[in-house]
Amino acid sequence: MRGEFESRVALVTGGGSGIGRCVALQLAASGASVAVLDLKQETAHSVVDEVGATGGTAIAITGDVSDPAVSRDAVDRTVSAFGGLHCVFNNAGIGGPQGPIGDYDDGDDFRAYHDVIGVNLNSIFYGLRYQIPAMLASGGGSIVNNSSILGLVGEGHVSAYTAAKHGVAGLSKSAGLSYASQGIRINSVHPGYIDTPLLEGLPKEHYDALVAQHPIGRLGKPEEVAELVVFLLSSRASFVTGAQFAVDGGYTAA
Ligand code: NAP
Repeated sequence: MRGEFESRVALVTGGGSGIGRCVALQLAASGASVAVLDLKQETAHSVVDEVGATGGTAIAITGDVSDPAVSRDAVDRTVSAFGGLHCVFNNAGIGGPQGPIGDYDDGDDFRAYHDVIGVNLNSIFYGLRYQIPAMLASGGGSIVNNSSILGLVGEGHVSAYTAAKHGVAGLSKSAGLSYASQGIRINSVHPGYIDTPLLEGLPKEHYDALVAQHPIGRLGKPEEVAELVVFLLSSRASFVTGAQFAVDGGYTAA
């Protein structure tokens, strides 16, 4: 397929749903060969099928990104399928336990805290460890890490998620500085609340309260985050690295 990303190879984690799915579809529609990594086989395959139906090229990879071996294997499989790696969206993430820290129990809540740090933050460190050498060998590229508004500002009772997402911003800045002169740009994006399966099942009053926190008067759409991510992955963003980008309907401006 021809387009801005023709001859480019991309890896999208959590690419089977929500924001990751939209980024995978937009990249493939612009000519990239895309590796879609997700936890469940059917989820990853469904997006690969969507890409295939529109004439694009994609492969499915299944695994848990909080396992470093999965990050390494994903890079190896992407490079062996498509011959290189130029664009990565490290996006897989989960919600977490909520409540005042002093009330957490030492069992389930401690485990849930570690799960959130493992999936939302450690996975990005593992990913970068294997993605960067492959990208250097491919002549450079761009990495976007998905943080959150809660990587820029705090929210009470959401400690694990807020800590992980602030960590994503810091990790992205540090890695961006390390590789700025070597042809790899690394940035983080910070979405407000976005209508995706991650928010499914919220009680209506909770959903309405979230809407009220966004000056624009609604939650975001995954496609609106994807537009920013795809720009940052493209050569149009050639002078952009180590930076944080809110896509939040004004949430963090208020
Ligand atoms: P989503 O629709 O649930 O998509 C996330 C995908 O990642 C799902 O397919 C999920 O699989 C997969 N995943 C979860 N844990 C994984 C793991 N350990 N290894 C591999 N894949 C895994 O969620 P989304 O809203 O698009 O969220 C994507 C990212 O955006 C997350 O990092 C999230 O924190 C961030 N974000 C979301 C919002 C929002 O309001 N939606 C706001 C700010 C930031 P399963 O469904 O099988 O778990």
